[in-house]
Amino acid sequence: MRDTSLLQQALGLAPPWTVSRSDFDPEARRLDIEIDFAPGSRFACPTCGAADCPAYDTERMTWRHLNFFQHEAYLHARVPRVRCDKCGIKTVNVPWARPGSGFTLLFEALVMTMVAAMPVKAAARIVGEHDTRLSVSFIIMSTRRGRGPMRRA
Ligand SMILES: [Zn+2]
Repeated sequence: MRDTSLLQQALGLAPPWTVSRSDFDPEARRLDIEIDFAPGSRFACPTCGAADCPAYDTERMTWRHLNFFQHEAYLHARVPRVRCDKCGIKTVNVPWARPGSGFTLLFEALVMTMVAAMPVKAAARIVGEHDTRLSVSFIIMSTRRGRGPMRRA
């Protein structure tokens, strides 16, 4: 099994998303995973849900993911913007992250579990992220879920 196939299965990616490349740097303690979509793929409009919208252009984005053993892992992808007849040009939603988040859903779930038991600052230190970056992300998330903002350190 090629490493891209293994990563694709581990990430649970479904078409049109595929892992196109991975770059493991043990000295930098970092795994970078490149996700791409097949040429000609069509996507749903993120606003109205209209199916089969063609990609208009793409925007390169990066998300922090769960660690790969002791190594930090990052997902990278060119995320398509679609042209919807009703809504205009919209960035599609990717299955692994919330719109606008710099973290994957699994990474956020891990940190949510941690901040339930400790201050954001302590959780940030453990995962190696700046507490401000985590706080902003989780205040937005907890507000959207109808809960109060997370407590700070
Ligand atoms: Zn639309």
